Amino acid sequence: MSTSMKLPERFGRLVFNEDAMKERLSPDSYGTWKKCITDGTQLDLDTANEIAEAMKQWAVERGCTHYTHWFQPMTGVTAEKHDSFITPAEGGKIIMEFSGKNLVRGESDASSFPSGGLRATFEARGYTAWDPSSFAFIKEGSLCIPTVFCSHSGHALDAKTPLLRSMDEVNRQALRVLRLFGDTETKRVIPQVGAEQEYFLIDKALYNRRKDLRMTGRTLFGAKPPRGQELEDHYYGAIKPRVAAYMKDLDESLWDLGVLSQTKHNEVAPSQHEMAPIFSDANSACDHNQLTMEMMKKVADRHNLVCLLHEKPFAGFNGSGKHDNWSLGTDTGKNLFKPGSTPSQNARFLLFLAAFIKGVDEYQDFLRATVAFPGNDHRLGAQEAPPAVLSIFLGDELNAVVDSIINGTEYQEAGKRTLAIGVDAMPAIPQDNTDRNRTSPMAFTGNKFEFRMLGSSQSISGPNVALNTIMAEELGQFADELEQSSDFQSDLHALIKRVFTEHQRILFNGNGYDDAWIAEAERRGLSNLVSTADALPMYYSDKNAALFVKHGIYTREELEARAEIHIENYSTVTIIEAKTMIDMLRHEILPAVSGFADQLCQRAYHKDAMGVACGYETTTAKTISQLTDELTAVCSQLETDLKQIPHDSLDAMVYCHNVLIPHMDSARTLADKLETLTAADCWPFPVYSELLFSV
Ligand code: ADP
Ligand code: MG
Repeated sequence: MSTSMKLPERFGRLVFNEDAMKERLSPDSYGTWKKCITDGTQLDLDTANEIAEAMKQWAVERGCTHYTHWFQPMTGVTAEKHDSFITPAEGGKIIMEFSGKNLVRGESDASSFPSGGLRATFEARGYTAWDPSSFAFIKEGSLCIPTVFCSHSGHALDAKTPLLRSMDEVNRQALRVLRLFGDTETKRVIPQVGAEQEYFLIDKALYNRRKDLRMTGRTLFGAKPPRGQELEDHYYGAIKPRVAAYMKDLDESLWDLGVLSQTKHNEVAPSQHEMAPIFSDANSACDHNQLTMEMMKKVADRHNLVCLLHEKPFAGFNGSGKHDNWSLGTDTGKNLFKPGSTPSQNARFLLFLAAFIKGVDEYQDFLRATVAFPGNDHRLGAQEAPPAVLSIFLGDELNAVVDSIINGTEYQEAGKRTLAIGVDAMPAIPQDNTDRNRTSPMAFTGNKFEFRMLGSSQSISGPNVALNTIMAEELGQFADELEQSSDFQSDLHALIKRVFTEHQRILFNGNGYDDAWIAEAERRGLSNLVSTADALPMYYSDKNAALFVKHGIYTREELEARAEIHIENYSTVTIIEAKTMIDMLRHEILPAVSGFADQLCQRAYHKDAMGVACGYETTTAKTISQLTDELTAVCSQLETDLKQIPHDSLDAMVYCHNVLIPHMDSARTLADKLETLTAADCWPFPVYSELLFSV
């Protein structure tokens, strides 16, 4: 591609976007597609054929030979199976063909994807179906068609289907509420999401020498280097040339794919960085976040770097999260979480706020469960990320407004009377207050909520499905109540006041990292699901299942399938980590330290024979030998543990959490002590100072 191409021309050049469709489709087909997006109507086969033909031509002109349905199985990553466009023709030749049928639906052997028991083994096939609301794009010579992935019995086997369902449902319920405010214009309410993505970059050659990083994505050993992140010089610091070159390449690769990559900067830990896109509808935000994670890794490879997306690659350093900025927008360009300047806009804002507060309070346990997986356990509550307790931060101004409504008192700051909802305009809420509370798991930041508990490696689908569905439920309840009202204004006020009063406990403006808050939260009756093992069982509660079943987002089976997959994943990941640990101990660490101890003994022997003092050699050799024996015992213990994993998946998760992990922690502590005693050239792999300060 010519480097002289200007960004506006270049942006989305690998995407079969609306512009490309307009240019290449007949007005009729374009109109049918557009109607399908806006009104949810079906596409007929003729239109699908025409779109497929246009897509293929466009892709072939750009060098594509293959197409793939691109989908998001419940593994949290994406999957693709490539088929070429070739069709045999006369004379031993081929032509390039792609039909509407191939576009709209694909068969795929689903038996190797996790199904959490949803797909009986005799029914190995699943099918993928085109999601016409997200654009096809080109990746490595293949036309990628975003699709949903379902079993033949119609169960959702993926992350996209429930997200689309939840977007429809929150749209339906939010429209009912908007109509009550006399809004007849809005046709669609759209969840809008901006996912900030954190990551680490390390040198590829060093990475290749660490089995733990290669097998598990994180370091299982590593003593704290003399310098950590205490200097606080990395956050927003000047970007080094090698990283800058990577970021430039990443931006360009994302822009080509139509991803609105906007912000890039260094993060708190050395070698840690962030990319934030401009927000978009939840569906494309989710697709684009998956593409972003993929591109981050691929681009790193081109620069002899490795991008780590694990939540906690390095103990003792900040881990990586993914802030999920979420709001509701309308097709007419309004943001329903923007405190407006007129009384009626503010009444609407306060009602949506009330729905959010009520929903988060009632489903705090489920929201916590959507961010529960092994990598995130190292992060949540570790004084660098929100605690495992959910609460909402509103900021001083909005909090004062809520208080004045609850108490019916004067709204102090503005020196005004009690705020009469729908009658008074609300005091100005600063859009971007600088003292934003970074310790809150769910912070109101001017016109959106920032859900900060997500881990850097996870799909944003699950948490957004939960937010959308919870909002749909509460808005639906409010609509049920207010649609019956004969005095809208006063019933509205009463409802908002009641909800704020009943759900105050979820509001917290203080320091979420403070231990006192955890005690206070328990007094308030908030749930504190510390680990994944505590949180995942929330998928099975009747209350949570009822929510998703009622709104047609997950059937009970679909929900439990997801729980089952996460529960199995917990054990699988932990067992792989334990095995990698044993492998590194037996093949690398123990032989290395034993060799070093032997060197010391030989030196001590020779020195002693010469009558030379050998205190360093003998004491160090003794300490090392003692630690080595202890470490060998822990290693044997881990081997025994692995033979005793219970068969039942829930029991296995609890066992891994209660038995395996503490033993892994002991092994690490001993090995890290040995690292500090061993000569640098005897230690078998690169240490933290090299990994973290070399790019
Ligand atoms: P921070 O200061 O929290 O790091 P960033 O600028 O890195 O902020 O990220 C903020 C994210 O929030 C961006 O992705 C931005 O596009 C997104 N965002 C802004 N407004 C909205 C909104 N109304 N709804 C959803 N996301 C939004
Ligand atoms: Mg940011």
